[in-house]
Amino acid sequence: MSARCLGTLAERIAFHSEAQSTGCVHWMGSLNNKGYGQIRFAGRLMLAHRAAYEAANGALTAAQQVLHRCDNPRCVNTEHLFLGTPALNSADKIAKGRHAHGERHGHAKLSTAQVLAIRASTEKQAVLAARFSVSQSAISRIRNARRRAGAEEFSR
Ligand SMILES: [Zn+2]
Repeated sequence: MSARCLGTLAERIAFHSEAQSTGCVHWMGSLNNKGYGQIRFAGRLMLAHRAAYEAANGALTAAQQVLHRCDNPRCVNTEHLFLGTPALNSADKIAKGRHAHGERHGHAKLSTAQVLAIRASTEKQAVLAARFSVSQSAISRIRNARRRAGAEEFSR
């Protein structure tokens, strides 16, 4: 009822945000302790960037995460936002981590897509190791990392 008087979610977000010369659109309302904007809408406290994404693209599931290309937590410019999932985020971290640590065993570098494929697969380690030209222990590490990342993501 009162939500209608205050306008749509998109209008509320536009009203409380301000375009910056950097291209980011700053949320001018309250911020949480991590610097993300927060908005109360229809009795629900939402993250402002997540609300902006929902207003533009439709409702999200709890497992979907809205990430910033610009690394600016208070930015609500939907052009700077993209959708991630816990699986995609942790695969991305593993792919970047592998890159950062170098390939001590001379393995081919795995892309995020390959890490995801390994984690989605139920095939034997040996089969995957051969397909991706990495050791079986590399396959095992990727699968173990999935379990750890999963526990962290869902305990939040
Ligand atoms: Zn931005």
